[in-house]
Amino acid sequence: MSLTLYNTLSRKKEPFVPLKKNEVGLYTCGPTVYNYVHIGNLRAYLFDDILKRTLLFNKFPVKHVMNITDVGHLTSDEDEGEDKMLKGAQREKKTVWEVAAFYTKAFQENMKKLNILSPDILCKATDHIKEQIALIQQLEKKGFTYFKGGNVYFDTSKLSDYGKLAKLSLDAEAKARVQKDQNKKNHHDFVLWFTKSKSQEQEMKWPSPWGVGYPGWHIECSAMSMKYLGEQFDIHCGGIDHIPVHHTNEIAQSEAAIGKKPWVKYWLHNEFLVLGQGEKMAKSGENFVTLPTLEQGGYHPLDYRYFCLGTHYRHPLMFSYEALDGAKTARRRLIDKVLEFKKNKDKASATKQKPFLQTFTDAINDDLNTPQALAVVWDVVKDEALSGKDKYVLLAKFDAILGLDLKTVKEEKIPTEVLRLAIERLQARQNKDWKKSDELRERISRFGYVVGDTKEGFEIKKSD
Ligand SMILES: [Zn+2]
Repeated sequence: MSLTLYNTLSRKKEPFVPLKKNEVGLYTCGPTVYNYVHIGNLRAYLFDDILKRTLLFNKFPVKHVMNITDVGHLTSDEDEGEDKMLKGAQREKKTVWEVAAFYTKAFQENMKKLNILSPDILCKATDHIKEQIALIQQLEKKGFTYFKGGNVYFDTSKLSDYGKLAKLSLDAEAKARVQKDQNKKNHHDFVLWFTKSKSQEQEMKWPSPWGVGYPGWHIECSAMSMKYLGEQFDIHCGGIDHIPVHHTNEIAQSEAAIGKKPWVKYWLHNEFLVLGQGEKMAKSGENFVTLPTLEQGGYHPLDYRYFCLGTHYRHPLMFSYEALDGAKTARRRLIDKVLEFKKNKDKASATKQKPFLQTFTDAINDDLNTPQALAVVWDVVKDEALSGKDKYVLLAKFDAILGLDLKTVKEEKIPTEVLRLAIERLQARQNKDWKKSDELRERISRFGYVVGDTKEGFEIKKSD
């Protein structure tokens, strides 16, 4: 089966046919670096990664560009609220530049731990002010902008198909909502360039034809994607929250500027990670779970990767520690199996492997059906006709998509904490303190190990 992807633009699965033979352009919206990313944000980057790996698996020459937003993003996506970067700087008593550098590094560390392939180009909005100004000038020349109250706005009424991605019903929406910014001519108009900062402490400012100021949030993605991928490119991704405002506005300004349609051929969006009541993970409060939080709780970052693979990217993913425990156990079991298969000296048979490789490819090529791909993984593990060698070869091939480091897994050493508890338990048994001994056995089991008694003392095994 050749690759098909669900295009938000058409609300249909479509066969993937690239615009050019020698390069598939992929642009994925990156983080606003004013705080740590939480695991809900990371789900989006994992989805981008599966998509990119699937393209590579299908031998498409991908060029991947991701942005880092370090200026211009207000707490609401619609030019309302406080400046996110400034808020971070005030909270931490640092400059906005320091905050941006710190959280960019933290973000990159998260990506690495989750085995997310690095983009070919990771570009910062503040390094591309010149390109953003040039794009706004282009829009100005074509009559798509107006200047009011110190800001340059995009006039959405000049485009006949504004809002096509989100299928916005413009009249109803405009009536339903109160206009907060009195300078806007139309409800959906948005700022391209701010010269009037809401905060006098705004540190990030640049000279421009409209006065000293800074760009609106949406313009950076249009300017940088077109700089690196050309005026028209293949795929643009982001979370579903980007559909109604950010991506809608990116399309408006880009298609207005280039005068060609469509700007991007395929739009792909991932659903959220949700908590108990279906709520989205919040950026503050106790719902704010980061990758280091999980690591401190005894989870490996790849346990979270495995957890995300278990649900299709277009479905909400319910987060709970119980569910994450399930992923953790499954991943450990898979690693043990891979270690066992790796030692197998039987002959490999390409003929026997073929149907499994085909089913796996069909699953992944069917709009990145990772839950089904994982089911094939376990079919391979359990199959009785395949040799251990065949299983190892197949799983190593699948890992090009899964990214679970299956090829490089090593025998895991028993954690020192488990050893310490086992010694403590031995002492308790020598003292005939059976209650304490049972408690310690229980604590050891929480690490995924079983302790047994031998003549010499004890032996520790991984639990099944
Ligand atoms: Zn973007």
